[in-house]
Amino acid sequence: MSDDAKRISADLSGQVALVTGASRGIGREIAVTLGKAGAAVACVARNEEKLKEVVAEIQAAGGQAGAFACDVADSDAVQKVFDAVVEAHERVDIVVNNAGITRDTLIPRMTDEDWDQVIATNLRSVFLLTRAATQVMMRQKTGRIINISSVSGLMGNPGQANYSASKAGIIGFTQTVAREMASRKRKITVNAICPGFIATEMTDALGPALDEEVKKRIPAQRLGEASEIADAVLYLASGSGAYITGQVITLDGGLTA
Ligand code: NDP
Repeated sequence: MSDDAKRISADLSGQVALVTGASRGIGREIAVTLGKAGAAVACVARNEEKLKEVVAEIQAAGGQAGAFACDVADSDAVQKVFDAVVEAHERVDIVVNNAGITRDTLIPRMTDEDWDQVIATNLRSVFLLTRAATQVMMRQKTGRIINISSVSGLMGNPGQANYSASKAGIIGFTQTVAREMASRKRKITVNAICPGFIATEMTDALGPALDEEVKKRIPAQRLGEASEIADAVLYLASGSGAYITGQVITLDGGLTA
């Protein structure tokens, strides 16, 4: 799927996007895809060096981007970043809540910290940024919020009670905010994407177990590519996605079929 000719295209010129977890993996691919489609992209994560590489990649492709180092679980830091983006561009059209972590262990051994860190990074962050985004989008009367959940939010996965809870939380949150934002007078959509196993550092960490998962559990018998998730985001962000809201879109090679 890396062949650009096979990928969808959309014109996002004049639009402003903010992508969390943009320093690597799926978020990086989303940021680059939105940037190449013409959006000015605010790239958010903690690692500033890596963010600068992503910004450089977008700029090299003729796009516009900025790096914003921030811990997405930190309320003040998130608000500061959001305000800086609004000040620079006077609008925010697309917010992609993608930052996420795992702290996998079976429930009897799960520490308070394992629980709190995952819920804060994966779920609290979505609340913080969505709250800030809706305030601006309601004034604009337009906007797209796309939250990256997981198949682990749709079904159980041993060792991931904290992660599954955070990702299932994103789904309920998405559905409620979509209903709050939907109206004849406003064009604001809020959706969630549930990836299955996608080839990134997060799945690399599974080591040899990953091969077993692919062979045994994924009907497509391969991992998904970050570009496949980025294309779904692009579709939701584009004009074609205007009537899709409150939905949970699963891209998993048949894993949950
Ligand atoms: P990676 O581990 O490759 O990347 C995670 C990203 O999140 C990094 O950019 C990281 O940047 C950022 N991040 C983590 N913690 C914070 C924080 N506190 N503040 C700001 N940024 C943070 O993960 P993937 O690309 O694989 O996953 C992206 C999203 O997709 C996650 O939400 C994940 O749960 C979800 N997902 C992934 C799947 C997969 O198979 N890969 C499957 C299903 C869902 P930095 O370290 O610089 O802060």
